[in-house]
Amino acid sequence: MKVLYLEDNPTDATRIMGLLKKESDEENIVWVKTVAEAESKEGNFFPDVILTDLNVPDSEGEETYQQLQKILPETPIVILTSTYEEKNLGLAAIRKGVQDFLEKQPLDSEKLHRSLRYAVERGKIQRELDATIQTLNKTIEELVRSNSNLERFAYLTSHDLQEPLRAVTSYSQLMELEYGDKMEDGARDYLQHIHEGAKRMQELVRDVLAYSTIGNLQQRLEEVDLNEIMERVIKNLKIAINANNALVKVDPLPKCKANKTEMMQLFQNLVGNGIKFCNQDSPVVRVSCEEKKPEEWLFSVHDNGIGIEPQYHDKIFEAFQRVHSRHEFPGTGIGLAICKKVVENHGGRLWLESSVGQGSTFYFTLPKPK
Ligand code: ADP
Repeated sequence: MKVLYLEDNPTDATRIMGLLKKESDEENIVWVKTVAEAESKEGNFFPDVILTDLNVPDSEGEETYQQLQKILPETPIVILTSTYEEKNLGLAAIRKGVQDFLEKQPLDSEKLHRSLRYAVERGKIQRELDATIQTLNKTIEELVRSNSNLERFAYLTSHDLQEPLRAVTSYSQLMELEYGDKMEDGARDYLQHIHEGAKRMQELVRDVLAYSTIGNLQQRLEEVDLNEIMERVIKNLKIAINANNALVKVDPLPKCKANKTEMMQLFQNLVGNGIKFCNQDSPVVRVSCEEKKPEEWLFSVHDNGIGIEPQYHDKIFEAFQRVHSRHEFPGTGIGLAICKKVVENHGGRLWLESSVGQGSTFYFTLPKPK
């Protein structure tokens, strides 16, 4: 092991050099008396570890190891302390990247060498960790970039697909109106299928567009009163509520820092599903909120509907994944994927508890404003 040893006191130096020589060859130990002298060795001597006193003629206290860290940034450092104040400095130094500190007295060769060996090992691990963190950060950056590229692609494609789709639906409708009675039954059937297919595609494209426009919250967070959001949601769902004879109960809700439009989408999708996926005469949906942890709200949307088998509890949050066919219950399967994206973008989690025939409860958390 190659050691660079910084010490200006000749008595301490003689004693500690003696301890160092017990385990390392003489040519592997370089003794310097000042930081400047240590700097002059740079490029000629490549130590595995630096052992240093804190007070030397050209530097004092933490400045000493900080300068050494600048000169040899990759090399682990062990500090030698003698006074009580220096021991405190030693502790602070560990927080600033120094590997260890040792009291000069009493010090034996075994203790010294163990500390130096550990410092070298920890230094290696630290460098590997730093390299891994750097790679991870780069990967995260690339992922974020490619994710936003993908979202932009989805947005542009779905946006541009709307126009030709509108043309297909309009012209198939016009064709049916103007030439429908001149057509044979088979031809009219085909036209009907074209029309329905295009309409369905329009719904899917609209949902991809809605999904891809969620996000980029940073600039659009504001204080949102969730009681007001629920009032709007109930107004928007009026037709479904009346048609299904549904009851929506809303407990007092808090204000939170969020994106208003996305909160509307979240509550409307969950409450709307509670009303839709129900075979009862009168669906009942209850929206509540409690303060389970000091840093977040826990929301729940409970219904008395058909329930969901446990094996689908994760799958239904993926885009276009549905448990039921379109003929049983209408929809494209994007609603819960939107909910998940909204909740996660706001720093929360979304999950459900449900069993078939027992209704479902969707839970989500939102961080409290700081
Ligand atoms: P959609 O409502 O368009 O089908 P969602 O993403 O909102 O899309 O829901 C995905 C699937 O999860 C639904 O098709 C349904 O099978 C199931 N689901 C969602 N909410 C409920 C609920 N409250 N009760 C029972 N099943 C539900």
